[in-house]
Amino acid sequence: MKKILISACLLGENVKYNGGNNFAENLVKLLEKYAVEIVPICPEVMSGLPTPRPPAEIRQGDIITITGSSVLSEFQQGANLTLQKANSENINIAVLKEKSPSCGSHYVYDGNFANRLIKGEGLTTQLLRQNGIKVFSENDLSELERLFQNT
Ligand code: SF4
Repeated sequence: MKKILISACLLGENVKYNGGNNFAENLVKLLEKYAVEIVPICPEVMSGLPTPRPPAEIRQGDIITITGSSVLSEFQQGANLTLQKANSENINIAVLKEKSPSCGSHYVYDGNFANRLIKGEGLTTQLLRQNGIKVFSENDLSELERLFQNT
């Protein structure tokens, strides 16, 4: 059975910065169809940041909240703890929430809190990929299905 890391907010856990979640019904159905073993993670909560917390975006190598504070060290801590979790569970696939400054895998916000996306990846995604872990988003359902069919 395939074991993968999943952003907890995609599973309906209320860990998002605003106290809500990003429940991804079609993703959950796919995971159930292939009996994938799920290991939920939330890098920002694992780092000790509270929920709710101010929204943050990547800006010039830093992570800045909407009120102007740097939370880079917390985000790095969350990324490191996520990698440790993957390694301790022998996991080499993750499905993480698109557009997040931690979890984004194709797009992130541009750092101006203006709801503008640019190509890029979050800190946790970057660290996982640097360590050989494949990272998908909740929108990559066809790719994930192909992967599950072949494993
Ligand atoms: Fe979801 Fe990742 Fe943000 Fe946690 S850090 S709420 S898992 S997108």
